[in-house]
Parts: sequence; structure tokens; C-alpha cells
Amino acid sequence: MTTTRFAPSPTGYIHVGNLRTALMNFLIARKAGGEFILRIDDTDPERSKEEYVDAIKQDLEWLGLTWDRVERQSLRLEQYEAAAEKLRGMGRFYEVFETPTELDLKRKKQLNMGNPPVYDRAGLALSEAEKDALRAERGGYWRFKLDQERIEWNDGIIGDVSIDAASVSDPVLIRADGQVLYTLASVVDDTEMGVTNVVRGADHVTNTATQIQIIEALGGKVPQFAHHSLLTGPQGEALSKRLGVLALRDLREQGVEPMALLSFMARLGSSDPLELRTEMADLIDGFDISHFGTAPTKFDVADLFPLTAKYLHAQPFAAVADDIAALGVPAAQAEAFWNAVCENIETRKDLAAWWLLIREGAEPVIDAEDKEFIAEAMALLPAGELTGESWGAWTAAVKEATGRKGRGLFMPLRKALTGMEHGPDMGALLPLLQVIKARG
Ligand code: GLU
Repeated sequence: MTTTRFAPSPTGYIHVGNLRTALMNFLIARKAGGEFILRIDDTDPERSKEEYVDAIKQDLEWLGLTWDRVERQSLRLEQYEAAAEKLRGMGRFYEVFETPTELDLKRKKQLNMGNPPVYDRAGLALSEAEKDALRAERGGYWRFKLDQERIEWNDGIIGDVSIDAASVSDPVLIRADGQVLYTLASVVDDTEMGVTNVVRGADHVTNTATQIQIIEALGGKVPQFAHHSLLTGPQGEALSKRLGVLALRDLREQGVEPMALLSFMARLGSSDPLELRTEMADLIDGFDISHFGTAPTKFDVADLFPLTAKYLHAQPFAAVADDIAALGVPAAQAEAFWNAVCENIETRKDLAAWWLLIREGAEPVIDAEDKEFIAEAMALLPAGELTGESWGAWTAAVKEATGRKGRGLFMPLRKALTGMEHGPDMGALLPLLQVIKARG
């Protein structure tokens, strides 16, 4: 069975960068009829916050990225301890004592000598007596001893990867205070939860190399890994600093529609064309991870709005009825309102401005040369209930009386009634205009 997981740390909100990871893992599981796990990576008690756990769930629910079960790393510390014991017993763990400053100094020296800044394994050379003394003085932490051979895997996006373990520092898996670090916890979870496919960002490629050795040492099955390229801004600039404003809740706040966002993210950076999907099933069907490329992927939040508009324009009234009711549009006019304005909104939020215009009327825009024309036209407005036919009848009468036609006839009327040069079809809008309806 195919099992994937999305494994956010609850230290912030989900943004477009990790949405990509979540979506790809979700789509792979759903396409295979497998299982999608939401794994909360909360082993760091200082940085993990419950409010972010809730927020992550809300954001995924908003998008319809449903999970089959939730796992929390903070509830699995015993399993990690057992794995650590096993690795210690196998001689794959060793205790080290360098402070961050000492490590930094070592790295600088190595770089000055033109060598790669790889941990020198000084901890391995310490005698028991030296270790006892250091432990008493500053406490020790634990590294995993990599086998210094090439680590290879066939990546679902990058293709064949080969990394020389000698060029990678032995990863720290347990901190001095006993806290298990992400790499060990993740490997234990992936192994014990039967995770078959792991998609994550290209910033994890080196982690993957070390994780493969740890999985093998623990006797686990190495999942199929795939590393997607990182997103950049529209000019290719690093997105990391701006991710704070690209949180899913900000996009939701700005009116981006879930299916527009998902359709976009499911194709961004792939050789498949961008297609707006209105159904999740179609998104799942049309997804193929092997079509994604390794080049950094440009992301421009502005691209989400035309797609959101396109999505909305195709929605039936039922899909927006609640939003329209919430604006206070009377039920009898709600559907006519939607039909009149649906092509003229970019997000649902724009409905409010159209309703305001209909209810309150607009500040008329009347050019000096149109003053008389508008006065004459207003006097000709059909009496009684305005209907879908009224605009046609009215403009025909105005044309007859004034001799105007085409743009010279229609545009001044539109501007007088809406204050704008563009907008909904006037035939549909006219019967809704409350100000006109209330005329004496
Ligand atoms: N919590 C890790 C992160 O957010 C998970 C990485 C992984 O998918 O293994 O980077």
C-alpha cells in the first residue's frame, strides 16, 4: 500500500512553499488509493505551539487536503529512545562534546585550508576518562556514524543521486538535554509507519542521504524519495523572506479560491500545462510527479487571481449563495444579482462592492456634454417594475428621442448609473438598481 505523509513542524503557518509538499504527498496517496498521514513534527517543545497545530489543520481543511490520521512525534519519544538504544548497541552512535563556537572554529579552519567543512569525528578518539570529564563539564550529545561510502538513490524528481558520505558531517541525532532531533524521529516514523513515498523540498537532499543510512541501520525499508525544487519569487529571488506573507491564511484572506490555488500548485514547475480543475478527483487523476523539473520554480502570487476569477465565473449560484446572503442581498434578488455580477468579480470579496453599488447607487459620472442627454434619458425610464427587458426598451426609446446610438448612447447611461465605464451587463443590472427602483 502507498503511504505518504506531510510532516510540518508546528512553529508557524503553512505557506505556499510547504503547501507544495503537502499537496504532492496528498495527491500521490490519493492517486494510489493509499494513505495520507498528517505528522506533526513537534519534538521541539520550545518552538512548537498548539495554536499552529490547529492552524495547520484548518488550512489543510480549507483546501480539502484531508488526512487519514494524525501522528504526533511528541507522543512517540519512547520509540525514538528505543531506536537510539539500538543504534548505540550497534556502535553507530558516538558521543561528542564540541560547543557551537568550537565547531564554528573547526569549520573556518577547514575552509581556510581549502577543505570541506565536515565534522572531524574528534569525539571518536576520546578516552572514557576524557568523556567523563567533558560530560561533567558541559554534557555530551550524540552523532550517527555514517559509513563513508557513496549513498545512492533514484529520486522521483531529480533522477539518480549519488552522495559521498565522506563529504557529509555525521548528523547529530540527540541533543545534550536528551531531545531527539528531527532526523532520527523522522526516520523512525517513516520506518514504523510504513511510509512508502516521501516528497519534500530540495533543501532536504543531504538529509535524505544520511537518513537512508539510518533507515538501513535500523533494518527499515527505504521509501521512494522525491525532492521538489524550491520556489523563488517572480524575479528568481529567494522566497524564504517573503514566505511570512504567503501563508495560506493570507491568501484565503485575500480571496484566493482553494481549487484555484491547488490547480496552480499541482502544475507549477511541471511540464504539464496549467489547467483549472474544479474537482479534486480531476486534480488527482492529472498528477504525475515524474513531470516535475529540478530548476527553481518561480512563484508569483498575482497568478492566483485570474485563476480564482476563472473559477468563480464558472460557479453556479448555489456555490456562492451563502456569501451573497451574508451581504444582506434579499433572497428574491440573490440569484439575479449573481448572474449580473459574476463575470465582474475577481474574488468573492468583490461581491460586496457590487452590492453596495446596487443598494446605495453610485456617484454618477456625467460629462458636461451629456448633461442634457442624461436628463432626457432619465425622464424616459420605463414606469413600473424594471425587468430584464427594461434596458432594451429604455435605450430604444432614448435612441428614438435623442438620435444617439452605439457607444454615445450606452456609455453615458452606464457612467451615470454606475459611475464606471466597465461593469456588468446593463440589462441584468438595471432591474437590480435599488436607487432607480425607489424613484418617485
Ligand atoms: N518537519 C520537517 C520539515 O518541515 C519534515 C521534513 C520531511 O518531510 O521529512 O522540514
